[in-house]
Amino acid sequence: MKILVMNCGSSSLKYQLIDMKDEKVLAKGLVERIGIDGSILTHKVNDQKHIVKQPMKDHKIAVKLVLDALVDKKYGVIGSMSEISAVGHRIVHGGEKYARSVLIDEKVMKAIEDCIPLAPLHNPPNIVGINACRELMPNTPMVGVFDTAFHQTMPNYAYIYPLPYELYKEYKIRKYGFHGTSHRFVSMEAAKLMGRDIKDLKIITCHLGNGASICAVDKGKSVDTSMGFTPLAGLAMGTRCGDIDPAVIPYLVNTADMSINDIDVLMNKKSGILGVSGVSSDFRDVESAANSGNERANLALNLYYHRVKSFIGAYAAVLNGVDALVFTAGLGENSATSRAAICSGLSYLGIKIDSEKNNIRGKAQEISTPDSKVKVFVIPTNEELMIARDTKEIVENSRK
Ligand code: AMP
Repeated sequence: MKILVMNCGSSSLKYQLIDMKDEKVLAKGLVERIGIDGSILTHKVNDQKHIVKQPMKDHKIAVKLVLDALVDKKYGVIGSMSEISAVGHRIVHGGEKYARSVLIDEKVMKAIEDCIPLAPLHNPPNIVGINACRELMPNTPMVGVFDTAFHQTMPNYAYIYPLPYELYKEYKIRKYGFHGTSHRFVSMEAAKLMGRDIKDLKIITCHLGNGASICAVDKGKSVDTSMGFTPLAGLAMGTRCGDIDPAVIPYLVNTADMSINDIDVLMNKKSGILGVSGVSSDFRDVESAANSGNERANLALNLYYHRVKSFIGAYAAVLNGVDALVFTAGLGENSATSRAAICSGLSYLGIKIDSEKNNIRGKAQEISTPDSKVKVFVIPTNEELMIARDTKEIVENSRK
């Protein structure tokens, strides 16, 4: 079974065609600048790149070019479109409706639309992408995989904010959590690496990329996570502030003459590692500035590590213990320095990492010492594969 995985943004589209026989990626690519001048498709087969530059006024044209690339005589990987058994779509927000992935039908489309106010930047392009695929492949089943779904298992005392309860009822204000597909994937992989049933494990997963979140996974289920109503909450991130005292907002309105919109931009785009260091939102730049003696870069990193460590401690308490700690995403997979800094001082939890094993990049490996009470892993995330696995399972079950 070959599954096409789609991730549509407002002007971009990422895709992978995966053969589920051996979970091999047959082709993958990226379309950029959809609807704007200079549209470009970069299609990759193994390490060979093929570039298609042509105007793409909308997502339907972009999807058509992706399908053309997949069946192209020269650089295609399938004989015809009928070889694509199903399409799995990444969808950011499923609200409270979806606790798992679903076969897309009209009812599901309506529910994704209903969630637009909760994810105004993300759900609309997801919908456009699904519609484009449905038009071009009317007989191919489509599956929706939601970033929020994994966290729907949180108990109400973890997701309800201490605001008037009516705000939850009326405006759906609560913690939803994001990066769910990644947290689910790496927690399942950790259980596999440990040779244990996930139902017997307490795992803390740290997705540390440009956006970052931590999740407490008990018996395979998310019981708490650091992002909230939006992906602004929790850890400090590349440009996002994460948790701050909410009273800062009215204070800035009243004393710094800032509008709510200014503050929204400030908290999302000008804060976090960038805001504190004044150097960059990219940890590589901030790490090298700190190594050259830049005090603010050093402060930004220490603040970041401190917050990650605080959440790990909090989630060890939420879980009443922890069997495994997992690092994933850009920083988590690649920065040995960050992993070492975060794990230092966690010996009270029984966490000990081996500095030599920690010196790896981008591959799944245990990095804890044999006597560490908690296994520590680096596990590259693979949301596309998780989407493809869900899609395969749902399509096969729907045929039974
Ligand atoms: P992601 O959002 O998962 O793609 O992660 C992107 C972020 O990972 C970048 O902004 C970098 O800050 C960070 N990153 C990637 N590679 C490294 C590295 N070798 N060392 C430190 N940070 C890295």
